[in-house]
Amino acid sequence: GKLGIALVGLGGYATGQLGPALLQTEHCYLAGIVTGSPDKIPAWKEKYKIPDKNIYSYDNYDSIRNNPDIDIVYVVLPNNMHAEYSIRAFQAGKHVVSEKPMAITVADCDRMIAAAKKADRQLSVGYRLHFDPFNKEMMRLGTQKVYGDLQKIRGGFGFKAEAGQWRLSKEYAGGGPLMDVGIYVVQGMCYTSGMEPIAVTAIEGQKTDPARFKDVEQSLSWKFDFPGNIVGEGEATYDGSMNYLTATAEKGQFELKPAYNYGGQKGTTPEGAMNFTPVNQQAKQMDAFALALKNKTRSIVPGEMGKRDVKYLQAIYEAMRTGKKVEIR
Ligand code: NAD
Repeated sequence: GKLGIALVGLGGYATGQLGPALLQTEHCYLAGIVTGSPDKIPAWKEKYKIPDKNIYSYDNYDSIRNNPDIDIVYVVLPNNMHAEYSIRAFQAGKHVVSEKPMAITVADCDRMIAAAKKADRQLSVGYRLHFDPFNKEMMRLGTQKVYGDLQKIRGGFGFKAEAGQWRLSKEYAGGGPLMDVGIYVVQGMCYTSGMEPIAVTAIEGQKTDPARFKDVEQSLSWKFDFPGNIVGEGEATYDGSMNYLTATAEKGQFELKPAYNYGGQKGTTPEGAMNFTPVNQQAKQMDAFALALKNKTRSIVPGEMGKRDVKYLQAIYEAMRTGKKVEIR
């Protein structure tokens, strides 16, 4: 049968993407919800046919332990809450998907991984682009050196973040656009090259709106050194729109623009346009995890990858703060 997923936090992403995707999944379904907003319950109950016994508040969250309908808890809360709610789900004996970034500190990532291990459950991260055919093609072209050795990867992701949301709070988000959207660029560079960066330099962008960005960076850019003299130039912003992942190799350039959206990727290679049938990325991502659990194999986007990326994000911030090149170990 299908594995049951409970979504924790019914905000924009859960409501707009994950819930609807769970109507298209083959190996899992939306079995339950956890919310602090009772007014949201009726619409979810009706749309997804969720029985009352599978509807939780933050107060009785831990009693999810006694509910055999729930196999997987999917944490879709602000970034600083991923660790606590994932760890409590492991203590309740459930498998966990945490949204990105997995946590706001490496120490929290370690605690999450340890809790998964102790419970003998799996931790997966909401890295939906590993299931997108256009981004998978970037991985193939880069790691199989289809156009020769890579020389450089550039990427940028940004949007205009309005005031008054947790994304602009260092406490809740752990940082600014780097934590929220720069992480996609870091991911893109790593999966396109199949490599891990060894050092980084970074520069904070100018704050043209210091009131809105009193807590976090408005924008920043960074430069990774990858093995073999491959350079990774990334940028992230909350002050305008950008969305690309461009790889330069010996025999030409391949790129996605846009690269990171829920759909609508456009890709080009030295031989012309990429041509793939779009998929529902979130449905593929959740089905792949459910299938891994059923088959007792590992998530391809595990907690260790989430931790690795938080380590890179912290190294970028350290480089930005110090103005120095930071070695990544
Ligand atoms: P959102 O603000 O729309 O939703 C957050 C939810 O958390 C809300 O329902 C809010 O009520 C709830 N919440 C509970 N306690 C809270 C508290 N103390 N403060 C603030 N909110 C609280 O945010 P979102 O865009 O849905 O993002 C949620 C998570 O999902 C984030 O970690 C984000 O990075 C991630 N996300 C991932 C993707 C993706 O493509 N993988 C896309 C969007 C968001």
